[in-house]
Amino acid sequence: MEAADAAPLTDFKPQPGSLLPPSHAFPRHAPQGQRFFLPPRVTRHTMHDPFRLTGPTCLSFSGGSTSGYMLWRTLQSNTVADLKRWLRVAFANTGLEHPKTLKFVDDTDLHWLRPLGLAIDWVEFRDDEAGHAVVTYETASREGEPFLALVKKRNYLPNPITRFCTSELKIRAMHKRLRALGWCDENAEWDQFIGIRADEPRRVAKIRARGTSTETSKETMCMPLADAGVGVAAVDDFWAKQPFQLELPRHKGRTLAGNCVLCFLKPRKQVESLMASDPSYAVVWIKMENDTVKTIKPNLVETGFFDADGEPLLKEVIGLGARFRKDWPTYEQMLHSVLAQADAFGHEPVLVHTGLVDAGGADILRSAQHDEEGIACFCGD
Ligand code: SF4
Repeated sequence: MEAADAAPLTDFKPQPGSLLPPSHAFPRHAPQGQRFFLPPRVTRHTMHDPFRLTGPTCLSFSGGSTSGYMLWRTLQSNTVADLKRWLRVAFANTGLEHPKTLKFVDDTDLHWLRPLGLAIDWVEFRDDEAGHAVVTYETASREGEPFLALVKKRNYLPNPITRFCTSELKIRAMHKRLRALGWCDENAEWDQFIGIRADEPRRVAKIRARGTSTETSKETMCMPLADAGVGVAAVDDFWAKQPFQLELPRHKGRTLAGNCVLCFLKPRKQVESLMASDPSYAVVWIKMENDTVKTIKPNLVETGFFDADGEPLLKEVIGLGARFRKDWPTYEQMLHSVLAQADAFGHEPVLVHTGLVDAGGADILRSAQHDEEGIACFCGD
């Protein structure tokens, strides 16, 4: 080990509680063949510093400000040697992220990780034997390719009931990357750092109750931001002072165009506002709905009427999984609607000014009806 690796990061401010013994004093991950002697939950919650690595850890970086801040705190709380030994930072790209999200991930990599000899793993779903690919900022998909490949494979669209896009495009793609790195052998266990804040109590409670990943009990879900009591104000304060940041508007702690830009779990008005701001966002979503409608088997449902023989008359309806939202118009109809609205009102933007500016001096915008709640999504902040 180089001497520099053993020292805390010199550029980083020490955090209260960082005078803990080195993480190997708490060996959560026992050598192969030996029993674990500290239960994961006890270790995590009795540690003074929830960002301290205690074994192999995958930090799930969504490309948002919150998980970016979690990454920063993790870098501060560990020596370079421990970071190199324990940490993998993964960003799973669906191909439908905003270009500024990709830029932010790349900036984070270049400013924070590369100088330490670390790097973000950019992973994408692939419908092949490996199940994933490792890409770079330059080669990352930008036209929805991983999402399209998944929908083609399933011949079915994810929806609020069956959200398989998160598990396939993000969680499993990351797991396959970890497995390729040798993490997932029989005895492997690891921590998963996810960017859930203390001011998101419903998400915190749900994940705490579960304890481990939905995909494997070997992965312990850790929410160091929630454990440290970090709320949205602390995240925003931090980014206001940084030389780079995610250059997308935020409203009430949410990045409106974060994750997949037109995610069907966002409030409908938010999706329509984003379409109005750039109609090209809708292209891939419309294609996925239209392609799936053409191929998915329709459902036959009773009409409530009967023929002359007394047999119930049936009608064909679009099968479950042929639309992202059965309670919304199609993405194509929504696009036509917002474009017509813009025409009718002399191209008035659907996004309106809040009167606030972000750290970069840009206006923070909001939809006229942004108080509608979206559906909780675990893809990130
Ligand atoms: S952001 Fe939405 S659409 Fe994208 S993977 Fe997550 S749940 Fe699916």
